Amino acid sequence: MILPINIYSDDVLRRKAKPLKGVDGAIEDLVESMFESMRNAAGIGLAAPQVGHSLRLLVFDVSALKNYEKEKPMVVINPHILSVRGYNEMEEGCLSVPGVQGDVVRPAALTLKYRNEQFEECVGDFSGMIARVIQHEIDHLDGKLFVDRLEKRDRRKIQKDLDLLAAGVVNADYPVVVPAVVQTSKLS
Ligand code: ZN
Repeated sequence: MILPINIYSDDVLRRKAKPLKGVDGAIEDLVESMFESMRNAAGIGLAAPQVGHSLRLLVFDVSALKNYEKEKPMVVINPHILSVRGYNEMEEGCLSVPGVQGDVVRPAALTLKYRNEQFEECVGDFSGMIARVIQHEIDHLDGKLFVDRLEKRDRRKIQKDLDLLAAGVVNADYPVVVPAVVQTSKLS
């Protein structure tokens, strides 16, 4: 089922998500719907809070990207970064912040402890785009968005776009939950 994506100023995107205690049929259905919603929106990663579930669960599939064709889709539950190596800067975007991009500095590689879709404990090393996507999605589980990590000058450049999203002006070619607009004199 394609689920609508929660947008920028939605409370669920600012909450610290709860760990899963296991995987049952409802979680399996959610995972399937998350993959479906992500692909429908042409995204490469999606975290459960982005579809309104405050759970420490994320999915990604980078196989549409050049040089990553052989990578399998992954389900990551209760992730915990054990260590990081190096830094790099990449341009990021987010299905919850449509129309906005910006350069973000993050560790280039990481070792991750997590549970897979069978809730088995796994440890893996990730680098390149996969390390990038994992960190972006883990931020969602901690109530952070990539725009929080932009340098001040870059943030100023996109502030107007963010204000429009917060005001409910959302242009996306996939279903979204438009945030409830708080009436303020600033917006009139
Ligand atoms: Zn995102």
